[in-house]
Amino acid sequence: MKGEPAMEHYDIIIIGTGAGGGTMAYALAPTGKRILILERGDYLPRERENWSTEAVFKQKRYQAHETWYYNGEPFRPEIHYWVGGNTKMFGAALFRLREADFGEIHHAGGTSPAWPLGYQHFAPYYTQAEHLYHAHGQRGIDPTEPPTDGPYPFDPLPHEPRVAELKADLERLGYAPFPLPMGIKLGEGTGEAPYLPSTFDGYPDLTESKADAHVIAIKPAVQHDNVTLRTNRMVWELKTSADGRTVTEVHARHNGETEIFRADTVIVAAGAANSAAIFLRSESDKHPNGLGNRSDLVGRNYVCHNNATFLAISKESNDSIFQKTLAITDWYGPSADWEYPMGLIQMLGKVDETLMAFEAPEPLDGMTYAEMAAHSLDFWLQSEDLPDPNNRITVTLPTDKSGGF
Ligand SMILES: Cc1cc2nc3c(=O)[nH]c(=O)nc-3n(C[C@H](O)[C@H](O)[C@H](O)COP(=O)(O)OP(=O)(O)OC[C@H]3O[C@@H](n4cnc5c(N)ncnc54)[C@H](O)[C@@H]3O)c2cc1C
Repeated sequence: MKGEPAMEHYDIIIIGTGAGGGTMAYALAPTGKRILILERGDYLPRERENWSTEAVFKQKRYQAHETWYYNGEPFRPEIHYWVGGNTKMFGAALFRLREADFGEIHHAGGTSPAWPLGYQHFAPYYTQAEHLYHAHGQRGIDPTEPPTDGPYPFDPLPHEPRVAELKADLERLGYAPFPLPMGIKLGEGTGEAPYLPSTFDGYPDLTESKADAHVIAIKPAVQHDNVTLRTNRMVWELKTSADGRTVTEVHARHNGETEIFRADTVIVAAGAANSAAIFLRSESDKHPNGLGNRSDLVGRNYVCHNNATFLAISKESNDSIFQKTLAITDWYGPSADWEYPMGLIQMLGKVDETLMAFEAPEPLDGMTYAEMAAHSLDFWLQSEDLPDPNNRITVTLPTDKSGGF
């Protein structure tokens, strides 16, 4: 720490600008409260590489340059520190959890306990979020769809011919494929040119048509005079009053110095792993296991989707530019095929030759990667993880508390 740290007081500090922090900033901005948003990343530049598969997937240009450890083995986490957080890269598929997701669920590997809250507690917020994030979809087809109080704000995205054919094939087999709910601005407003999505799913969106938290929430929030966004501020720890009951200071790192901010209310929305890390780093005499961690549960039971890419190479070519318009939940819960839930299937944006070469260990006999990409239907398979107290975030604090994660 060089010199005296600066100190400023706000009504509210929000840490993080992703789906959580960005949306919170959007909702609170009109209150007129003095709001400070602290974001460790910068604005993601709009540049040619946004749409380069080579740059995005192979060179990992927008992924955090950070080393984490799993059982002592170093790895580079697939995490993105930008204004908008991980939503700058997300696929913008906007699903609600299902009613059954809040209850006890039996999986092949164990039981996922019931939540203390139910779907009905979240339903009104889902409706607001679908409107804010420009959700396009169609109710009444997805067999697992929870009850809602109205249609999606926008019609579903149209299927390209090959996807429409796949949908018809699935329906013939008795399944219920439905339009994938997507958060996207298609240029529906008066005087706007239409937007035709292509390189979108897992890429930053050069056109800012993807409904990410930066475009949808942070941009309008910072138009308010009472809202200040400070980028490149990594919140290191929260300090409390002497009795340990009130957060009094937020310590953030910027250009090698520590800045100190105060607020009446502090909202931690730094993502699942980094929010836990902030609380764990905020250990003190009053909170020896980290802030808010008397239960020793902070950072534990880290749950993530289990994801897989599934590529079906067909004799028929697939000329789709953007296939991310269809989803299937026929096996989401227990089914005649398997007594346990298997999860969700949705289409991927579209795998190109470069990504095909990256994803497939070797080309199929007699085919080039380009031919494989031109004939593949690309699926994203998503099943759920079970809570495990030993699947956890921990932080290693250097004795001088100067850095390290
Ligand atoms: C490639 C990809 C595709 C995805 N596709 C979908 C999808 O189609 N649909 C869907 O619903 N979800 C999708 N997700 C998941 C979705 O993006 C996340 O669930 C969501 O962004 C989580 O929001 P969050 O606010 O909790 O965290 P994040 O979006 O991670 O935001 C956290 C923010 O906090 C900042 N931050 C972290 N630590 C600190 C610190 N110490 N100090 C200050 N700031 C900090 C980060 O830089 C970031 O901006 C996808 C994710 C990825 C990576």
